[in-house]
Amino acid sequence: MRELLASPSATREVLEKFGIHAKKKYGQNFLIDANIVRGIIEAAEITKEDCVLEIGPGIGTMTQLLSRAAGRVVCVEIDRSLEPILEYTLEDCGNVDILWQDILKTDLSRVAEDYNGGRPLKVVANLPYYVTTPILMELLEKKGCFSSVTVMVQKEVADRIKAGPGSRDYGAISLAVAYYAVPEVAMIVPPSCFIPRPGVDSAVLCLKAFEEPPVDADEKFMFALIRASFNQRRKTLANALTHGLACGNQRLTREEVVSALEAMGLSPTIRGEALGLEQFALLSKMLKKV
Ligand code: SAM
Repeated sequence: MRELLASPSATREVLEKFGIHAKKKYGQNFLIDANIVRGIIEAAEITKEDCVLEIGPGIGTMTQLLSRAAGRVVCVEIDRSLEPILEYTLEDCGNVDILWQDILKTDLSRVAEDYNGGRPLKVVANLPYYVTTPILMELLEKKGCFSSVTVMVQKEVADRIKAGPGSRDYGAISLAVAYYAVPEVAMIVPPSCFIPRPGVDSAVLCLKAFEEPPVDADEKFMFALIRASFNQRRKTLANALTHGLACGNQRLTREEVVSALEAMGLSPTIRGEALGLEQFALLSKMLKKV
């Protein structure tokens, strides 16, 4: 049985054995604390019934324990130079498959199809911080493929995700998450739990997918409105939507936006950052042209 990697000494030893250095360009900060790794897997409520998608297994620290907890684990890793080390650290893990590719270029419904008969996967990851938001947005866009997402992110990203209307941290990602789940932070993780140490605290974010969307809206159009509003967040909503909407060939006039806002009892000079998910849903219903 391979030794578990989740300790400073085992991690240093294996990195040295394979002459591997953590690569900054891939956001490599390896976990070295077994309690944190177990805590993440517990927070994700992984059982033998589950097929887990692990984004960025790195040297296999969390993968070793996921392999024991889950029925099957499929990992997507961009850094092929980690192959020899993963072959060694995951030698006993017969239920783990690795796809050597960029998660942002991965066909996620194909993965669910190929590895879990089309049923939703559970995502568990210590995400690379340089691409956290694009990865989360991609997962949320393909949300039918996942029943839950449990990920380590920078604490400030978790704060942004949990922020509500009117707060400085509030943005398109807060709304994209609110449409998928109620975000919960399972734990705050200090830099000392990683090699190398990141410069900031991290947080484990748990998203358990709603069975039904929390609002009734044309999703594509609503998120086009949300993106346009936050791309130009200093502008009034009426200006941002008149000039910045990107949704097929639908265009909006200022008058249309102002009249919808007034019908909702909102000021014509309101900014998008003041609206919650329900208000964006209502606005999208009023502005959508068939
Ligand atoms: N899971 C390991 C752990 O907890 O120790 C490593 C986590 S490390 C923060 C992030 C991992 O994601 C690295 O292994 C990195 O190579 C990988 N990675 C970075 N960008 C990626 C991408 N676009 N697609 C897939 N994996 C990526």
